[in-house]
Amino acid sequence: MNSFNILTLFPDIINAYKSESIIKKAIESEIIEINAYNIRDFSTDKHKKVDDYPYSGGGGMIMTPQPVFSAFEHVRANLKGNVVSIYMSPQGRLLNNDIVREYSKVENIIILCGRYEGVDQRIIDTLIDDEISIGDYVLTGGELPALVFTDATARFINGVLSTEDAVKNESHYDKLLEYPQYTRPYEFNGMRVPDILLSGHEANIKKWKRLMSIRITRKKRPDIDLGGLVTDKEIWESENVEDLFT
Ligand code: SAH
Repeated sequence: MNSFNILTLFPDIINAYKSESIIKKAIESEIIEINAYNIRDFSTDKHKKVDDYPYSGGGGMIMTPQPVFSAFEHVRANLKGNVVSIYMSPQGRLLNNDIVREYSKVENIIILCGRYEGVDQRIIDTLIDDEISIGDYVLTGGELPALVFTDATARFINGVLSTEDAVKNESHYDKLLEYPQYTRPYEFNGMRVPDILLSGHEANIKKWKRLMSIRITRKKRPDIDLGGLVTDKEIWESENVEDLFT
């Protein structure tokens, strides 16, 4: 079982997310474990203080080392197997599908969520193996990033999604974005589902999906390099899908 151990000042945010939908089911089926620890519980200060002013000024508050070090020690002592610790940070490497796929193989992950102006540097230097960002913008806390990371990683763990195919067909798995999807009814407000999808001709449907994936990826994400993955013929066909399948 993979465990995600999230150290935060706001465990309710984590607990709310883990009690819904696919993540909830994965926890009930004992495929993953998500444990939220309140860093404040580990503060030895009589007022349970967890932050202080930065040396030399600069404004804002910084999370102090003691409660975070004690929380880490407590969490680590209860984990068996390999452990990797991550600090969610706008300074980290940008999260992507390759990173979550790698982390889906790690048995225990400790995730530290910062608040305020962040955490004392000695925490990062001593306790943290990897810093991960969910994008070039700054949030008020690491809880949403920790949930984004946990959710995306969990989807790669066997059994979390109903069929393995579900991850493989999805956008970014093989660089390509997903083809357009349709459900009932066949006609809605005069708009029809492409007839190819109702043809029952498996090989043609498969080809249509691939060509649409190529077309959509080139249009929406011209920055994704498809070199070596897509032939010139497929690119030409993707630009002429309508003519090929009518
Ligand atoms: N002063 C810091 C930002 C602190 S934001 C700086 O300028 O680098 C407060 C906390 O929110 C951070 O400690 C981090 O845990 C989290 N956070 C904010 N933006 C994030 C992002 N883009 N990705 C991951 N975590 C982020």
